[in-house]
Amino acid sequence: MNQLHDAVIVGAGFGGMGAAIELLRQGYDDLVILEREDDLGGTWHVNRYPGLAVDIPSSTYSYSFEPNPHWSRLFAPGAELKKYAEHVADKYDLRRRMRFGTVVTRAVWDEDTSTWAVHLESGEVVRGRFLLTATGFLSQPRLPDIAGIDDFRGTVVHTTRWDDDVELTGKRIGIIGTGATAVQLIPELAKVADHLTVYQRTPIYVSPKLDGPVPGLVRGAFAKVPLTQRATRLVGTSILEVMMVAGVLHFRDLPWANALGKRVCEAHLRRQVRDPELRAKLTPDYDFGCKRPTFSNTYYPTFTQPHVDLETTSIDHVDAGGIVTADGRRTDLDVLVLATGFNLWDTNFPAIQVIGREGRDLRKWWREHRFSAYEGITVPKFPNFLSLNSPYSYSGLSYFTTIESQMAHMGRLLTAMRERDAAGFEVTEEANTAFLDRMTGLLGNSVFNAGSCATARSYYFNQHGEAVLLRPTSTVSAYREATRFPLDDYTYLPKEVAALPV
Ligand code: NAP
Repeated sequence: MNQLHDAVIVGAGFGGMGAAIELLRQGYDDLVILEREDDLGGTWHVNRYPGLAVDIPSSTYSYSFEPNPHWSRLFAPGAELKKYAEHVADKYDLRRRMRFGTVVTRAVWDEDTSTWAVHLESGEVVRGRFLLTATGFLSQPRLPDIAGIDDFRGTVVHTTRWDDDVELTGKRIGIIGTGATAVQLIPELAKVADHLTVYQRTPIYVSPKLDGPVPGLVRGAFAKVPLTQRATRLVGTSILEVMMVAGVLHFRDLPWANALGKRVCEAHLRRQVRDPELRAKLTPDYDFGCKRPTFSNTYYPTFTQPHVDLETTSIDHVDAGGIVTADGRRTDLDVLVLATGFNLWDTNFPAIQVIGREGRDLRKWWREHRFSAYEGITVPKFPNFLSLNSPYSYSGLSYFTTIESQMAHMGRLLTAMRERDAAGFEVTEEANTAFLDRMTGLLGNSVFNAGSCATARSYYFNQHGEAVLLRPTSTVSAYREATRFPLDDYTYLPKEVAALPV
């Protein structure tokens, strides 16, 4: 017989764990968290490449209700994030609710029983009253479609499938990609490689990183007087908020704020790279903020080392021994690192097939209509479904601001549902359309629409060239709306759940 859970959550990263914590607070105890990997932590379990660290200050990258006084650095290394995820899972008793190595293929709303049937690759069906997908934005690795890559006789490794056994010391290493991942990895590879060739298609804005160890005294103060850490977090969050709101979202009104971000990065590059030709190659030709900028003090200087080459001629093909560029030059390689990022718009949104009422298939609906989700979390004709990685859901620069807004939305919605003695909820088409129209209007002011982003090749943009990933409001307003949205933007399902199939 199919056991009916209160909720099925897909994904055991920080998003899925936050959702589980909120459900527990709301009194839903019977949760199952399905995870395709063999352990919890999402991004922080999957990514293990050398140099991995959080790319915004650690004080802002945690649940506000579960501060971690133990971060060793201002930008904590990846292993500490994984440890923090484990701590949260244990403290909130989530681990026993998790099933690892469990691949979900699709989820279907069963109109007869008003439940979600979640189908696993194994053939098993898990049922829940609520379905929550927390499958991440950056969870489907992008393997580049480069001719001949399968012929390469050396080792090929994608950054999300890092293999510690791959020998790097003294090797000729090629790395494709110069996104935030590569910015962390390239200086580490340069330390051990005999020769490193970096294949760059689009340069990235890099700003100085105010990093360093957190002194024991400060960590002690954070542990003993949590208010001190909360104040530090507030400062960090405010800086990120100003960067995002003034520099990116209000581009049209405040072009100087955006220009300031650009100038900080350009000055950083000028200070670290003297050679004008190399500097020109590393200088982006799109506006600041079109794609996610990053922080590093070691990235630019790496290219000034004699054994490191920056290759900007496009790749023609890979052969058994290395990479051949479009001008016919060949570089012999032992190891090829793919720092080529993630595919968001073909394989994600949603990451699994989700079929709602009247057979509405979310994947098709989003592609045939426009990408939309009310407050970045619910979709019409998908009752009792919370899609945590939706269009317009990502708010601010720390993922935790998004997670906590969504937890607040869940809390308000589930409370309203219970107050009406209802069995479920569904957002109305009108509310969804009004939200989409409002977000589209706000985007007009942002760098994505008003700036020059054509050459950025940013994953913020979907296949139609629309920047529908980030919510174009401040995080403060996102949180406020999560706690105050009109309750009649939803309809509430009557309590007449039919018997479950056996
Ligand atoms: P990304 O930003 O998408 O960068 C992928 C890189 O690969 C780009 O430079 C891209 O060039 C290049 N590329 C892809 N396909 C290619 C091809 N066929 N030929 C040549 N170049 C190709 O991915 P990412 O660096 O993994 O970073 C993704 C996001 O992860 C970041 O924005 C950040 O939000 C997050 N991140 C976070 C952390 C952290 O917190 N610790 C660390 C790393 C990453 P084009 O730009 O020309 O397409």
